[in-house]
Amino acid sequence: MKNMRRQTGLSKLIHTLAAALLASMACATAAAGCPRKDALNTARVLAVVATTTPRVGLKSFPQTLPLDDHEVVLTFDDGPWPPTTRRVLAALARECVRATFFLIGKSASAHPDLVRRIAAEGHSIGHHTWSHPSLARIPAEQAVEQINRGIAADEMALHGVATTTPSTPFFRFPGFESTPATLDLLQSRGIVVFGADLWASDWDPMTPKQELKLITDRLENAHKGIILLHDSKARTAAMLPAFLRYLRDHHYRVVHLVSAAPGARAGLTAKPANKSPN
Ligand SMILES: [Zn+2]
Repeated sequence: MKNMRRQTGLSKLIHTLAAALLASMACATAAAGCPRKDALNTARVLAVVATTTPRVGLKSFPQTLPLDDHEVVLTFDDGPWPPTTRRVLAALARECVRATFFLIGKSASAHPDLVRRIAAEGHSIGHHTWSHPSLARIPAEQAVEQINRGIAADEMALHGVATTTPSTPFFRFPGFESTPATLDLLQSRGIVVFGADLWASDWDPMTPKQELKLITDRLENAHKGIILLHDSKARTAAMLPAFLRYLRDHHYRVVHLVSAAPGARAGLTAKPANKSPN
């Protein structure tokens, strides 16, 4: 009985400490000393738990992240792509906001410095296969290979170890094309599958101005959500500064995702993104 009480007390203490840690991370983010006084800033950090939210994003799944009204999550796919990813990073740094980047493993292998820069600026790094095929249209074993090789390449670029256990267990299917088998596999490995709640359709040809109008119109309807953008697209890199200003002027709050998994590194140890853009 005494032991049980002691255990309950201990687990309560662990929960309290974990909550305090997350709260202090959120405060540290908000008070990271953003050099720009009227910056958008990251409003809070949300630790994503694979067991309770294994799949998120209303475009593909019935559930999404627990975001409040006017809270948005910024996600970027298909990088690292040096000419445009650098511009995206500069825009995010200028507003002191943190995002999640879903990397293509092959590109991460080619540009490891840029991968490390993304992490060093405080962003979270998720995975987006090795070479971006549709995993629903290739044989099952090749789909698994695409997932593992992609994760290993990203981890190699990040930490110098080609492990298939991701330090941040976040994954997004190319074109959102999943299969029941790959969804089950990722869930069994504690890897959260990200869809999106809204997107800018930045794969379609349009001007940055048109893209800005499209995404702000959609956000006006949705009020909140996980936003999908592509840091590989020049039009997105061009419209991002204005979009971040829009978010600030319309009182949106940016939520930074980290993994709640033990041992997750991105976002927990990275330095605050408060350096001047370069
Ligand atoms: Zn993609």
